[in-house]
Amino acid sequence: MALLIDKQKCSGCGACVEACPFEALSLADDKAQVNEACTLCGTCVDVCPEGALAVEEVTRAADDRAATSRGVWVFAEQRDGVLPEVVAELLGQGGRLAADLGVELSAVLLGHGVSGLAGELFALGAQTVYLADDPRLQYFNDDLYAEVLARLIALHGPEVLLAGATALGRSLIPRVATAAATGLTADCTGLAIDNQRRLLLQTRPAFGGNIMATIVCPLARPQMATVRPRVMKKAQRQEGASGRLVTMNLEAGLAAATQVLEMVRSLGEEVNLTAAEVVVVGGRGLGKPEGFDLVRHMAQELGGVVGATRGAVDAGWIGHAHQVGQTGRTIGPKLYIGLGVSGAVQHLVGMQSSEVIVAVNSDPNAPIFQVATYGIVGDLYSVAPAMLARLKELRG
Ligand SMILES: Cc1cc2nc3c(=O)[nH]c(=O)nc-3n(C[C@H](O)[C@H](O)[C@H](O)COP(=O)(O)OP(=O)(O)OC[C@H]3O[C@@H](n4cnc5c(N)ncnc54)[C@H](O)[C@@H]3O)c2cc1C
Repeated sequence: MALLIDKQKCSGCGACVEACPFEALSLADDKAQVNEACTLCGTCVDVCPEGALAVEEVTRAADDRAATSRGVWVFAEQRDGVLPEVVAELLGQGGRLAADLGVELSAVLLGHGVSGLAGELFALGAQTVYLADDPRLQYFNDDLYAEVLARLIALHGPEVLLAGATALGRSLIPRVATAAATGLTADCTGLAIDNQRRLLLQTRPAFGGNIMATIVCPLARPQMATVRPRVMKKAQRQEGASGRLVTMNLEAGLAAATQVLEMVRSLGEEVNLTAAEVVVVGGRGLGKPEGFDLVRHMAQELGGVVGATRGAVDAGWIGHAHQVGQTGRTIGPKLYIGLGVSGAVQHLVGMQSSEVIVAVNSDPNAPIFQVATYGIVGDLYSVAPAMLARLKELRG
């Protein structure tokens, strides 16, 4: 593949030089020329007013795919025949995207003995369910699942494919993107449609969380994105809804290079942060590891679980399983209480969809107050015990 420059057509206007994000283009004798920094991203192709630039072959093939691919798909992961909540969240978001594009919403279900889940996917808004139900798919196997999903994509040509940024999704989806020769944006926090260009706008934190980048995949299809659990709103269930079930039979010879014989559950520390309705988070403002006794006490009183910032985890005060944020868990509880948490952007991306956010911080300018429903400026060691005492009082 290469960037082709038609010197006859090139007028030397310099639009491509200005647009190139990699400084890979320059003008020589009033004609564009390319250097080795070119990544074939295609930005220059889009801006050239003379149509003098083309990414060899890929442009034509990919343009065809963009023109013919239709529909929004959600990969409905399941474990032991149970759909995790992220599937309902993806179908909720997928439904909005499909409505904007004026296309169908479909779900893809792979496994063994899972056909009963199709009804649930219809109830969550899928109009079509693509099902591959086969003993070889009983345990998740990234090779085989990727092969089957890539085949379904090649057969039906969706324009968008969404999956959960779960352990399973993170292992599977990059393989599928590679097999389908398309792009993938991981860990999106926002998804929308640019109707004019029929493109999926995929927003996610970038450069260590310091900026929010919106990424598009203009040429290849499907446009693929993963979304963390608890970031999008769940689809409303429509009891008894039905749809089209398309089954795919796997041929006898299809096999993966590896075979999963058994699944064994991890016995490590498990903190059910993502499903908790109340999370009390301790930050570096606690000042010492014993500060988590207060956090634990408050979590216990409220029937919640203990979360932590990376600051507190890095200080060795609590295990990583409790970390909330970009490199920890994404949570969306009914109630989030932050004690001594500054509200760094990498923390906020993991908790800002919480319904009610209460922040206690001694610094009135702490960024967490910008997202807090209730902000209390003060020393957490005075405020938190006062909150607990009031709670006791209210409970009589
Ligand atoms: C690539 C990358 C990924 C990251 N991922 C994550 C992540 O997943 N999760 C995460 O949390 N961070 C993450 N971080 C780190 C993040 O940038 C912050 O450094 C971290 O969140 C800060 O933790 P903190 O709020 O506990 O500490 P600090 O920023 O030090 O804030 C402590 C706060 O406590 C307040 N305080 C101090 N004493 C008291 C008191 N007695 N009473 C009340 N308030 C008090 C202070 O005013 C201050 O606002 C990441 C950073 C990078 C670069």
